[in-house]
Amino acid sequence: MKLVCNVEVNHRGLLAGSNVAGKKSQSCLSIGKQNKNDELFIFLQSKPRNGNQMINKYKIDGNIETVFTKFINDGKSTIRIKEPPVDLNIKSNDSLQLKSFLKALHLGFNKQLNNDTVIKLKDLQSKTNSFPTSTVKKKVFVKSKAEYPVLEGFPRTTEELHVSGLGRKSFDRQILRLQSLRILDLSNNAITSIPKELGNVFAHLTELNLASNLLGEIAGVQNTYHSIKNKWLWLNGSSITTSLRLLDLSDNTLKYLPKQVGKLKGLVTLKVSHNQLESLPASIGVLPRLKYLDLSVNNLKSLPGSFRNLRLDSLNVSKSFASISLAESAGGTCFIMSLKELSARAVVNNRIYYDASIVPATLVDYMDDANFCMCGSSCFDEVISKSAIKDLRFIASSIISDAQSTNHALFNCTFCSSRCVNNFKKRGL
Ligand SMILES: [Zn+2]
Repeated sequence: MKLVCNVEVNHRGLLAGSNVAGKKSQSCLSIGKQNKNDELFIFLQSKPRNGNQMINKYKIDGNIETVFTKFINDGKSTIRIKEPPVDLNIKSNDSLQLKSFLKALHLGFNKQLNNDTVIKLKDLQSKTNSFPTSTVKKKVFVKSKAEYPVLEGFPRTTEELHVSGLGRKSFDRQILRLQSLRILDLSNNAITSIPKELGNVFAHLTELNLASNLLGEIAGVQNTYHSIKNKWLWLNGSSITTSLRLLDLSDNTLKYLPKQVGKLKGLVTLKVSHNQLESLPASIGVLPRLKYLDLSVNNLKSLPGSFRNLRLDSLNVSKSFASISLAESAGGTCFIMSLKELSARAVVNNRIYYDASIVPATLVDYMDDANFCMCGSSCFDEVISKSAIKDLRFIASSIISDAQSTNHALFNCTFCSSRCVNNFKKRGL
């Protein structure tokens, strides 16, 4: 366990002002042993100057007076050592790393620290530079459970992380610290939920591969509405909605696709094959950059009318549809709009930003649930719906489909007004 940070050593016996050693310097703190069966120490290694490596040792067993953690969330902590009487004032850029270091120290103090995480003094001395900041690792592949960096964490510089096929049951929150991440591959695990922070912390995340997980399952026994609703909150994050280009949710036992997918305005490729989808959210039709869509092997009954606004390069509808009932229907044509409907239409049509800090959460849900008229406008409760069979070749330049299915699908179209119905009727759409 190592922590690269700034450490100021204050001797409690010395008067303020005469403290020669109390200078902050870049250091590496580690928990280790001098010999194989020796007791545990904190090693304080300062950055070498003029080739001189300095390592100070502080015994752990019975020698830690207090650990001050009041400002731990700012990355600050103080370890008060009994002998010698010094305070190690630590300042780290990464409060989570600092927390895991102090956790390891606590385990060491209680003699419960796993031997694998203990560092040997001779290893510290033999390496000319043990400051991991100098090694820039950008691609990380974890190929086995043994390789998984449970305590020391992934290198902070990681841009591409592949943790595939390890059977992991949950999303590892230490991944949220990797702010340079561009590609995240967590495919072939058993993950059931993604933390909502994922949508906010990565400014550069372009590819997210979650294929072959269990995101369709609900963790825990109670399938409450709340847990289902919170499951996809990460798709609302301010970063992911603009940065993400590729999302792979294939083979996840999904019965529905969350409407929040429609918020991913940068999305070019969406893969949702091998699920149990019966319908698609209307919001899929407003993804402005979507070019590649894989819907193969699902149970779709129809497509939302907004889908006809898409202009794709490739659409895979092979085994996408359950036996289709090709019944076209016509809905009513006259309604009076509520104020709620009118204002929600204005907000969504003008792309005014909203979230739960601006309007009540129930309105956020209401607006997220927007239907989209064939004209591109949003509509909510008061809509005219009609279903019709339409040609898919109008939407995508390349269509992959199985032998049985044709290039036609049933669309559930919603219209925002009777004027729109008449317009589309006139144009033969
Ligand atoms: Zn319309």
